[in-house]
Amino acid sequence: MNDALRHELTLLRDLGFTHLDVPKTTAVAPSVDDSDGKTLLADLQAIAMICEKCKLSKTRTQVVYGVGNPNADLMFIGEAPGRDEDIKGEPFVGRAGQLLTDIIKAMKLTRDDVYIANVVKCRPPENRNPEPEELDACRPYIRRQVEIIQPKVIVTLGKFALQSLTEKSYGITATRGLWLEYNGVKVMPTYHPAYLLRTPSAKKDVWADMKKVMAELGMAGLSS
Ligand code: URA
Repeated sequence: MNDALRHELTLLRDLGFTHLDVPKTTAVAPSVDDSDGKTLLADLQAIAMICEKCKLSKTRTQVVYGVGNPNADLMFIGEAPGRDEDIKGEPFVGRAGQLLTDIIKAMKLTRDDVYIANVVKCRPPENRNPEPEELDACRPYIRRQVEIIQPKVIVTLGKFALQSLTEKSYGITATRGLWLEYNGVKVMPTYHPAYLLRTPSAKKDVWADMKKVMAELGMAGLSS
């Protein structure tokens, strides 16, 4: 069995599938693993788009899977889609998203250079916090996205992103700006852009964190 197929089957098992209905006429997959990140992400997206593992599937407009460079060195992980994201099907496109886009630009990058996703792929009604069973149900997707993309650095935005990805009860105040690790990948926890909209004085802290990220990635021309 090739690695891509093994990963796909592991993911399906993690998502609660106990059997697969495969028509007998289905072509046998090639034994050579020639899948690139783009293909693997698209395969995973196809599974996510029809996911009904939690009750958010009943109220969502769209699954908000993730966007960006499948080979990104830098991945931003947020909490869950809001109203704008639910309508557009793309993460971080509302007011908080504009602020994240500005942060990315200040790092001399574009949204196409990085990969952006959330730990929960469907909008919680009225933008309430995601519930533990929703975070649990969705966790296999973000973890597999990380596994496929293999970024050098992950920036987690806010408490839910950090706690759900790592499954540890880290507090954001205690960990913000400190390097952590998830599965061999360096993780920089920082504040969620929605918090920055409410507390502009915290922007300088996030910028200090992004400078550490840029230094880690060896990005030239670090500005103050
Ligand atoms: N907040 C998030 O955490 N994610 C989004 O996609 C939008 C807002």
